[in-house]
Amino acid sequence: MNRRRRIYEGKAKILYEGPEPGTLVCHFKDDATAFNAKKHEIIDGKGVLNNRISEFIFTALNDLGIQTHFIKRLNMREQLIKEVEIIPLEVIVRNVAAGSIAKRLGIEEGTQLPRSVIEFCYKMDSLDDPMVSEEHITAFGWASPQEIDDIMALAIRINDFLCGMFRAVGIRLVDFKIECGRYFEGDTMRVILADEISPDSCRLWDINTNDKMDKDRFRRDMGGMIEAYQEVAKRLGIMIETTPERKGPGPVLVK
Ligand code: UDP
Repeated sequence: MNRRRRIYEGKAKILYEGPEPGTLVCHFKDDATAFNAKKHEIIDGKGVLNNRISEFIFTALNDLGIQTHFIKRLNMREQLIKEVEIIPLEVIVRNVAAGSIAKRLGIEEGTQLPRSVIEFCYKMDSLDDPMVSEEHITAFGWASPQEIDDIMALAIRINDFLCGMFRAVGIRLVDFKIECGRYFEGDTMRVILADEISPDSCRLWDINTNDKMDKDRFRRDMGGMIEAYQEVAKRLGIMIETTPERKGPGPVLVK
């Protein structure tokens, strides 16, 4: 088998060199981590689900003219993506108070925020991804003022789309995290959406019951994580192949 060069391995994904210059192959692992990888488990099938859910969302965004790094899904666990220079920020968009903002500002979880709020965290595991301001971002040169404007505009458009998409299938988008990258085409550069959007990086609550359908099930030891991810995929109309592709001719079922 042709071994590809591994470019990077993260907590939930591996990046390999792609078939053409400027492309990479992103492999979704089954590893679930939380609290900066202090908690770690293998959740069978999570990578397959996140690959499909992220494909579904990124394809819809590409169709809307919101540029993403996604090119096409290659197989159950892998997708072909454009190579970008990742901007070292986690961009969080919040519609409803939950998680760290609820704790930090003393707001009860589930409270609707007065408007969507964007926060930036500096991507640095050794510091536990600290929250930073636009002043920090420009002073330390992580992104320019223009790039911050572009990222915020992108984040708001994505939030509007995702809120509607999830609401249509009975899910409340509480918050989510995105990462952006610089995509170079000839002598132009633009900021596009990178990484993934999946129940690993969103808070998704059932509209009627407030049941959690996201990674909080793992973070908070609630169980039923894979079933919740499957339910998200099912509601979005995503068909997941559960049987591996057959190689060569096999028995034919006679009806
Ligand atoms: N998030 C993420 N990766 C991180 C931190 C946060 O995907 O490293 C997502 C998280 O799933 C949630 C949103 O960003 O949907 C806001 O997370 P929060 O700041 O509340 O942090 P947490 O409660 O996860 O520590």
